[in-house]
Amino acid sequence: MAKPTIADLRQRVSGDVITRDDAGYEEARRVYNAMIDRRPSVVVRCLTASDVVATVDYARENGLDLAVRGGGHSVAGFGTIDDGVVADLSVMRAVSVDPGTRRARAEGGATWGDFNAATGEHGLATTGGIISTTGVAGLTLGGGIGYLTRGYGLSLDNLISADIVTADGRQVVASATENADLFWAIRGGGGNFGVATSLEFQLHPVDQIYGGPMFYAAKDAGAVLRFYRDFIDTAPEAFGGFPAWQIAPPLPFIPEDRQGETMLAFVACWAGPLDEGEAMLKPFHDVAEVVAEHVGPMPYPALNSAFDGLVPAGLQHYWKANFVRDLSDEVIEGYLEHGPRVPVVNSTVHTYPVNGACKRVAPDATAFAYRDANFAHVIAGMWPDPADNEANIRWVKDFYAATAPASEEGGYINFMAGDDQDRIRANYRGNYDRLVEVKRAWDPENLFHHNQNIKP
Ligand SMILES: Cc1cc2nc3c(=O)[nH]c(=O)nc-3n(C[C@H](O)[C@H](O)[C@H](O)COP(=O)(O)OP(=O)(O)OC[C@H]3O[C@@H](n4cnc5c(N)ncnc54)[C@H](O)[C@@H]3O)c2cc1C
Repeated sequence: MAKPTIADLRQRVSGDVITRDDAGYEEARRVYNAMIDRRPSVVVRCLTASDVVATVDYARENGLDLAVRGGGHSVAGFGTIDDGVVADLSVMRAVSVDPGTRRARAEGGATWGDFNAATGEHGLATTGGIISTTGVAGLTLGGGIGYLTRGYGLSLDNLISADIVTADGRQVVASATENADLFWAIRGGGGNFGVATSLEFQLHPVDQIYGGPMFYAAKDAGAVLRFYRDFIDTAPEAFGGFPAWQIAPPLPFIPEDRQGETMLAFVACWAGPLDEGEAMLKPFHDVAEVVAEHVGPMPYPALNSAFDGLVPAGLQHYWKANFVRDLSDEVIEGYLEHGPRVPVVNSTVHTYPVNGACKRVAPDATAFAYRDANFAHVIAGMWPDPADNEANIRWVKDFYAATAPASEEGGYINFMAGDDQDRIRANYRGNYDRLVEVKRAWDPENLFHHNQNIKP
């Protein structure tokens, strides 16, 4: 059979088919991480699941590499590829909500901003990321860590079903009752098993939350980190939040003479009864002097988008990550040595709590294996000027080297750069062999390989 041409592809899809000769190519080939400079042969702006099928067929039948793009936030730049085909779902962003069953369905290119705007209208939410521009699909298929993780589990723990376009171009449903092996694998296995054109989630009553950022002087960081370690061990599960090394940005609530100072921030989210919020945060005021804060009641979607301005598209990104079982004094020592050296205002280090509901799921119930960790640690280097690449990458690597020996071998795949593929087996622990089996069943030729790849 003749291989499909670009003209054939254009016939089959309703969205734009953008080749190197087309206007808009330069913009279409780029992703969020400006360090990624790749030139696909074609970017297909899919509008429907049928467009996705046509794009997958075109790549497979021509023997071309395929990249799948949802929100485009992959630090490794998996949403674009040299010479191959990009299935770009970034305009497939519809979200529908059924408040009766407390369920929402998001298309494969929706962002958490899209999702939370739709569910927030009904006073509902599910676990998502902390930045509103991150894609729902990419984040969920790899795990999904955010403010609500302790109360409601990972994003993938709230996934009820997904519509998947498979490597051989079929459209199937993955759920507990249909293609259960595929459903198991996509909950943690990332984009390895197919393209999710829509994802259905369980929602929870989360309307106004009490929270926001608090800033402490760097000299108090040790006391705050040790307090956080103990507090979060037994805190009510409606409490989410994380410490962050952060250069104080020029925001009105931070005294002008403290802006630009490197501090330890704590970002809190109390999703329990609003009138208990102030008391919940009191110990964070008692542990050390709070230099500046912007804490109070706010709609959950407002907290989800509060820090978008610090991480606009077009920065350079290099990240490293670990799971941490105990935030031991040894790990904290590493934080205290390298945290104050955070080079620019965009860069940060977050230590998310993943205890609570997340830990009650068995490690082999989904592909996401690190259910016994208490923290997910990410050193997120983000800076504007490529001239500073070396200094910033060095900071990330030094911080990582200092904290890795007392951390778990594996890290969260969604927080990793492209040079961590040798850690993939460690990230999946005892689930890795089963993931390989499911990969062999659903993608034996490894069409979906431009990701944190599980090789068949
Ligand atoms: C600023 C920033 C903040 C972040 N915050 C958080 C956070 O709070 N919590 C958290 O858990 N993670 C967070 N992340 C990490 C994030 O989960 C990953 O980068 C994730 O891969 C992003 O998904 P995306 O759809 O935006 O990315 P993309 O680059 O579009 O995709 C990344 C990967 O997901 C796959 N993928 C995307 N869409 C689909 C689809 N529809 N079907 C099948 N595969 C798909 C792709 O194949 C690719 O391998 C953050 C990342 C950034 C850059």
